[in-house]
Amino acid sequence: MAQRVVLITGGSRGIGAAAARRFAAGGDKVVINYCRSRERAEALAAEIDGWAVEADVSDPEQVRNMVDNVLDKFCQLDILICNAGIAQQKLFGDLTDQDWRRMFAVNVDGMFYTIRAALPHFIHRKQGRILTLSSMWGQVGGSCEVAYSAAKAAVIGMTKALAKELGPSGITVNCVAPGVIDTEMNANLGPEDLAALAEETPMGVIGRPEDVAEALWYLASPGAKFVTGQVLAPNGGLIV
Ligand code: NAP
Repeated sequence: MAQRVVLITGGSRGIGAAAARRFAAGGDKVVINYCRSRERAEALAAEIDGWAVEADVSDPEQVRNMVDNVLDKFCQLDILICNAGIAQQKLFGDLTDQDWRRMFAVNVDGMFYTIRAALPHFIHRKQGRILTLSSMWGQVGGSCEVAYSAAKAAVIGMTKALAKELGPSGITVNCVAPGVIDTEMNANLGPEDLAALAEETPMGVIGRPEDVAEALWYLASPGAKFVTGQVLAPNGGLIV
């Protein structure tokens, strides 16, 4: 199989970085998008012989330039992983207009801009894998995370609708909806919170970024060519 080119938004750390390592280990050329974590993205790119590109996914111009640069450099894009995301814990009544807009700007608009920029290339080649990152809170809703839950539910809706629209073009679109994963996104949780969540989880542990990377790897594999519009949930059974 020819080497595939993978673009991972928010690949500088956490789940995105684990995915970058997984796909590189599987023989893919990985492009790591970052927004603020330049040093970490560049160190990771050096480690896996990948390429780091800066873009704030909430800015359509930056996203378009990023995708154009990837296509100029590699002449090909096979897999797009829309992983960049932010979270926020707040009571619904305390959310500001700015909180709400930023949540959707990064988690939903960013995905729209990224997929839109890459799509003509995928359609031209009549192939491509698009993977989106939702969350268990997008499936069942999380208290004090209404904006995040709404944005992540939108990701699931976008995934399913796009899968129907793009199937005839040979492109699959699938979503991964993780449970609680040990990354900086959960840095606000103390050891006691994490222990309580692990106890609530049927598998008895908090997830690792690598657990999510494996789900992404499967959905991008040749074996998943007939899988589209699905939500795969590495969550240890917390949400079933
Ligand atoms: P993380 O450790 O906080 O990392 C977030 C990543 O997103 C970073 O690489 C960051 O890049 C990037 N990012 C944030 N804003 C961006 C922007 N405007 N433009 C481009 N990149 C941006 O989070 P994570 O836990 O790995 O989460 C990754 C994805 O999984 C997110 O979509 C998240 O909602 C989802 N998820 C996570 C969990 C969990 O428990 N951790 C559970 C369910 C779903 P820079 O540092 O370079 O800015």
